[in-house]
Amino acid sequence: SINATKKLSNGVEIPYLGFGVFLVNDPKECEQSVLAAIKNGYRSIDTATRYENEEFVGNAIKAAGVPREELFITTKVWVTDFGYEETKKAFRESLRKLQLDYLDLYLIHWAAPGFEETWRALEDLYEEGLVRAIGVCNFQIHHFEKLAETAKITPMLNQVETHPLFQQVELRNYLAQHDIAHEAWAPLGQGKNGLFDSPALAEIAKKHNKTVAQVILRWHLDRDTIIIPKSVHEQRIIENADLFDFALDADDIKTITSLDTNQRSFGNPDDSE
Ligand code: NAD
Repeated sequence: SINATKKLSNGVEIPYLGFGVFLVNDPKECEQSVLAAIKNGYRSIDTATRYENEEFVGNAIKAAGVPREELFITTKVWVTDFGYEETKKAFRESLRKLQLDYLDLYLIHWAAPGFEETWRALEDLYEEGLVRAIGVCNFQIHHFEKLAETAKITPMLNQVETHPLFQQVELRNYLAQHDIAHEAWAPLGQGKNGLFDSPALAEIAKKHNKTVAQVILRWHLDRDTIIIPKSVHEQRIIENADLFDFALDADDIKTITSLDTNQRSFGNPDDSE
């Protein structure tokens, strides 16, 4: 169901379906989109300091009137706030903007130099009970190995670019071995590079009487990946959550697996080093 959750390594449950708000910067549009998502059953929201919309997300959360404990709110620390004290300050600022007194998930947004000290701040925020789970974004295997030299806690989740054109096969093996949850950003490949025009995906969609977007999102769920698709249109917000009444078969999975180009479409995590 839309309420399905995955258990993180510390036992905290994160909804498999969340709502992403990257590039939703207009206050009204952001508030309305998040409200539409919550109204239609989403309980998890993924924002970031970098998106400059935490305040609008906070307004929507308040307006939605859903009990706080039913929601799962994620935000991220950007590289300009890296460092131990800086991160703690950025966290407090995020809480203030979101109008919350705790977070469900706090993530390092990018594997830029200095992530070790920032991670130490996340560990302390976690131990102080201010955030229920901590993790990273855009970490490659070598970043995890570097972090392991100083970390007390292994990240509980890695949010990385993942879609049928870039399936992250090697990284997924590593994450599974270390009990780190896989969350896909750009689960729909941002609708770019012809993904929505793929005849193979269109055929699968037709077979199940679903849309290509729904087939892609279902594929993520079938491989135990958490998804945070973004849309500002209520019709699509509803469509992207209507994934729990059909199943892909072995042929479908084989076809989608064959679309992997092993090429990322967006930023390379190694570029900031
Ligand atoms: P996405 O793959 O979710 O694609 C969103 C776009 O796909 C929309 O703007 C729209 O053009 C299209 N779309 C959405 N639903 C559709 C539908 N049903 N039919 C047709 N087209 C549809 O891309 P995203 O927004 O980049 O990624 C999702 C979320 O991941 C973001 O909003 C953000 O929260 C997060 N993210 C994180 C990072 C990071 O570095 N950690 C980077 C990018 C995104």
